[in-house]
Parts: sequence; structure tokens; C-alpha cells
Amino acid sequence: PFVAPHSFTGEDVIEIHCHGGLNILRAVLNLTYKHGARPAERGEFTKRAFLNKKMDLSQAEAVLDMIEAKTETFALKSANNLSGTLYNFIEKIRKQIFDLLSKIIAGIDFPEDVAEVKYDLITSELQNAIEQIDTILKNAQSSNILRQVIKIAILGRPNVGKSSLFNNLLSQKRAIVTEIAGTTRDTIQETIDIEGLSATLIDTAGIRDAKDRVEQIGIEKAKEMLNVADVILYVVDGSKELDEEDEKLANTIKNKKTLAIINKCDLKPRANENILKEKFGEVFKISAKENQGIDTLKEKLYNMVIDSSALSSQVMLTNARHIHIVKQALSLTEQALNTINMGVTIDLLALDIKNIWLKLGEITGENNTESIIDEIFMKFCLGK
Ligand code: GDP
Repeated sequence: PFVAPHSFTGEDVIEIHCHGGLNILRAVLNLTYKHGARPAERGEFTKRAFLNKKMDLSQAEAVLDMIEAKTETFALKSANNLSGTLYNFIEKIRKQIFDLLSKIIAGIDFPEDVAEVKYDLITSELQNAIEQIDTILKNAQSSNILRQVIKIAILGRPNVGKSSLFNNLLSQKRAIVTEIAGTTRDTIQETIDIEGLSATLIDTAGIRDAKDRVEQIGIEKAKEMLNVADVILYVVDGSKELDEEDEKLANTIKNKKTLAIINKCDLKPRANENILKEKFGEVFKISAKENQGIDTLKEKLYNMVIDSSALSSQVMLTNARHIHIVKQALSLTEQALNTINMGVTIDLLALDIKNIWLKLGEITGENNTESIIDEIFMKFCLGK
């Protein structure tokens, strides 16, 4: 037994552990039903915890985010919110807004005793709130990247070592590797995990099998891949001079995040790296065969996709509902700033500011109607 309030829900809870086997379980369950128990609804445990003030709404939703997390990093960020990081961040902004509002209202209600708050102060306080909200929204973009699986395509002429790099990247951390059937006959795709970031790695090695029109098919395939990929690993063979075909392929890459890679750096260097540097900026020298430079490449890959400053930040919006509310709060704050410039009266301004405060409160669940709360907990699976 867990005696209230020292249980997850804050209520008296009994956990029954019994031997496995369907019949035994059924008999035990039936016995509990006989004594008035019923199966829990979706998310009911977490909902009760919320209603009993064991956690705020953002923490309750973090439980769901954590269960659904596809990557370790995303799970950690959700766990962070579960421990109240988001709650504290939002409450800090709300308190600043509340303090400002109190001063304004005091000035309106007791004009003889309290000086009216200067518009300059209101402006700077609202700008301050916008800055904080902006930061958290920026982080939310990284959170979206963590939630989705990014696509990394390995591009290069036949024999430069694409497959070797592909296998090398896979074998480094095979933990979360699952096979995805190639969408086309010629590409191989696998899911890899790069420091908590899930990525689909696409290799075009199969194009080698088409003996005729190899280069042409290669370029067609490359173009096709470019459409779906978020990041391109452009590989050349460092033991050979770069030729027209390398250049042709490089020219198909437009407006994509690209890492230029010189492979086979264990052999005598012949490729002119300056050509690549001119086109792509940085160049990575690796040996897929000898496993050289792969860690640096992975690190770069990771940083390229995610603004690491956003990731290292403690607060992160991991939930679509929260992102939506924060965006609304941002636009309410911007509107309030605009009305100041339009010379609105202070009592109307106070209303605008109150609305920002109420809006942010929807994240922590202070101003939510029962139906919204029910909707949120319906997303949970049974038993949570
Ligand atoms: P792909 O056609 O681009 O997929 O190239 P592969 O990965 O099949 O490699 C083509 C050939 O290059 C194979 O014989 C590999 O063993 C060799 N190779 C790949 N990477 C390296 C490397 O880093 N160093 C050396 N010396 N050989 C490599």
C-alpha cells in the first residue's frame, strides 16, 4: 500500500502483485471488481495526480511525451519537464507579468496613493517577456527535430566508399538500428541513433549494379534523394583526382545542409581539397575502411542538425499544445506592445496584460476547462 499523499496520484493506493497466468490474473481482477473496483480510464492515474496537485498540467503531459519519446535526448527533455522545469520557467514569466499588472492596477485603483506606472517600464517589461518567450520557442524548433527523424543521404560517385561509410556509421552505435525496406530498388535505408538523435541514413550504393549509364543513373538518383534528404554527406575518393563527374554531382546539391567528405585518407592524397573547400567551406577527411575521422564527422553531423545551445538549455517545449499556447502568448504580448504605441489608456492595457498572464496559465493548467483537461488525458494509454 502507498498511503496518501505519498503515492503517484496522491491518494491511497494498493498495488497487487500476483503470479502470471491469465486465469490467476482474471480471478484476482474479478475479486477486486466484486469489491467495487473498476478499470482505470486512459491517463486516469496521471489525471488524478494533476487534480490532487501532485503535478501541474505541463508535468502530466511530460509523462506522455516521455512515453512517446523516440530518442534518448527527447525522453530526457521530457523528463526534465516532468520534474517541473517548464512549470518553473513559465511561472517565472507569469510572476513578472503579474507583478507588473498589480502595479498598474494599484495605480488605477488608488490614484492618490500609488503613482501610475510609466509606459516606459511597461514597454521594457513586455519586451523582456517577449525575449524569454522567443528563447523557449526557438528551442521548440530543436525539439521538433528531436521528435522527427531526420534524413541523411550519402551521395557520391560509385566506388568512393559510400557503402563503407554507411556501414561504419551504423556499426558505431547499432543500439537503435532497424531495417527499413528501401523505398526504391536502388537505395538502402537504415535508422541510426547519433547521440540521441534518430536519423535515417540513405545510401545509393545500389546504383553500382546498373552497369550501363551508371553516371546518368547516379545523377538522377542523386537528384531524387536530394528532394527528401535534410542533410547530405557528399563523399569523394581522396586517392583520386577530382573529375568532372564529381563536380557534376556536387552541382546537384543546392540549398541543403552538406558535409563534404574526402574518404580513403589512409591512401596517398590526390584529390584537390581546395575545390571542395571553395564550394562547401569545410572538408572532412576520413577513412571509412580504417575508421578514421568518423567520430568527428558524427559530432559535426549532430551539431549541424541541432543548434546545440538550444539542446543544452534546460527548458524545452516538447509538446505541441504548449508550443501553440506560447505562440499565442507571444502574439498577445506583441499586440499589447503595439497598443502602447497607439496610445491606449492604461486600463485597457491592463486587460491586455492580464490576457497574457491567463494564456500562459493554460500551460500549467490553472485556467483550463474540464473538457480540455479530459482531452489531454485521453491521449494517454490505459494504466498511466
Ligand atoms: P561505394 O560504391 O561508394 O558504395 O563504395 P564502397 O563502399 O563499396 O567502396 C569501394 C571500394 O573502396 C571498396 O573496395 C572499399 O573497400 C574501398 N574503400 C572504401 N573506403 C575506403 C577507405 O577509407 N580506404 C581505402 N583504402 N579503401 C576504401
